[in-house]
Amino acid sequence: MADAAEEEIEQFMHGLERRNPGETEFHQAVHEVVESVMPFVLDHQKYKQAQILERMTEPDRIIIFRVTWQDDSGQIRANRAWRVQFNNSIGPYKGGLRFHPEVTLSVLKFLGFEQTFKNSLTGLPMGGAKGGANFNPKGKTDNEVMRFCHSMMTELHRHIGEDTDVPAGDIGVGGREISYLFGQYKRLANRYAGILTGKGLSFGGSKVRTEATGYGCAYFCENMLKHQHDSLEGKSCIVSGSGNVAIYTVEKLNHLGARAVTLSDSDGFVHDPDGIDAEKLAWVKELKEVRRGRISEYAEEFSTAKYHAGAKPWGVEADIAFPCATQNEIELEDAQSLLKNGVRAVAEGANMPTVLEGAHAFTESGILYAPSKAANAGGVAVSGLEQSQNALRISWDHEEVDRRLRGIMCDIHEKCVEYAKNGDGTVNYVRGANIAGFVKVADAMLAYGA
Ligand code: GLU
Repeated sequence: MADAAEEEIEQFMHGLERRNPGETEFHQAVHEVVESVMPFVLDHQKYKQAQILERMTEPDRIIIFRVTWQDDSGQIRANRAWRVQFNNSIGPYKGGLRFHPEVTLSVLKFLGFEQTFKNSLTGLPMGGAKGGANFNPKGKTDNEVMRFCHSMMTELHRHIGEDTDVPAGDIGVGGREISYLFGQYKRLANRYAGILTGKGLSFGGSKVRTEATGYGCAYFCENMLKHQHDSLEGKSCIVSGSGNVAIYTVEKLNHLGARAVTLSDSDGFVHDPDGIDAEKLAWVKELKEVRRGRISEYAEEFSTAKYHAGAKPWGVEADIAFPCATQNEIELEDAQSLLKNGVRAVAEGANMPTVLEGAHAFTESGILYAPSKAANAGGVAVSGLEQSQNALRISWDHEEVDRRLRGIMCDIHEKCVEYAKNGDGTVNYVRGANIAGFVKVADAMLAYGA
């Protein structure tokens, strides 16, 4: 990189860190984007003159509120919740809600910032946002989760709307939570409207929404391999996580002829060298979605598998890695061990699962490395399709939605490649995704003037 760009990046990051002290996840997400976008901005002075990068790294607004609810013992509890409305230049705010005890404003700002680029890449008219609460759904009863969701929506409903801001799920927020939230919205607003996505199929949800992030991630990887005249057929894959994204990544990998050999949760991982086939996956779905159990039980159920307590799966030898758990789950040593073991591709199902140094190691090694804002855009893309179906008051069948999702992932891949080609013919998907995502939003902001 030219010295001038490096100096600009350093100055830019210095200013951002000063304005947003202590927000390490937000700094990391911005740093990763600015590294690729700054040289492009310096080559296109119109963006520089209009201070687009400075403006794009400042959220439009942040709503912070208290959520008070009653637990089953009658005790009143209070949590903090946020909605970060980051950028609505190309469409209404759109992005998930995360319930996790470690949710902070920094985490939600990083996610809202990433979402702006991701949503732009989908080609659909969606701005970027993220929200959530430091509420831990683990160990809570259905009734407690319901009371929390109802209370949260009592405040949130003032700030959302089908043309304003459309939240969805994320970690800790699945079909159950979206249903409770939607029920409360309807009660308060006295109107049915597509103000959330990820709704149940009987009340306006879209087919394939549950599967979309995982399916999309496998499709993106399929496209990267195809670009190299290769395919997923016969490839062994490490998958981390055991939530929605991980489960449906494995399902699509099975459809496409690959073999997933791991799943994990925050306590450890299971390694099943024989592969997690459709039958075993059906068991995992029941474990996670109905019983809300731990992944260690997999090794008790299937003798082909071994459980590794307190460990992450990145030391397992395989062709491709799909980090589908959470941010920064791949640290530098994990990235190095994947590379040492000869991994050929990494496709990120979770948001920002790789630390910055790890991402640099992947990029420098020349392996196929799909950053999350491209690889996991399938989830929000089908959310966009859910919004369209709601607006048209129709519903498409499974094949139709899956066909559109596959097409969108193929388009995202093409857009990335447009800005990602290196001189030696290799492809830098990080640069491609960042610049392609940036251009659409930046051009809209330029068009609006100051
Ligand atoms: N939480 C998902 C994401 O990170 C989906 C957001 C949505 O569907 O609005 O992209």
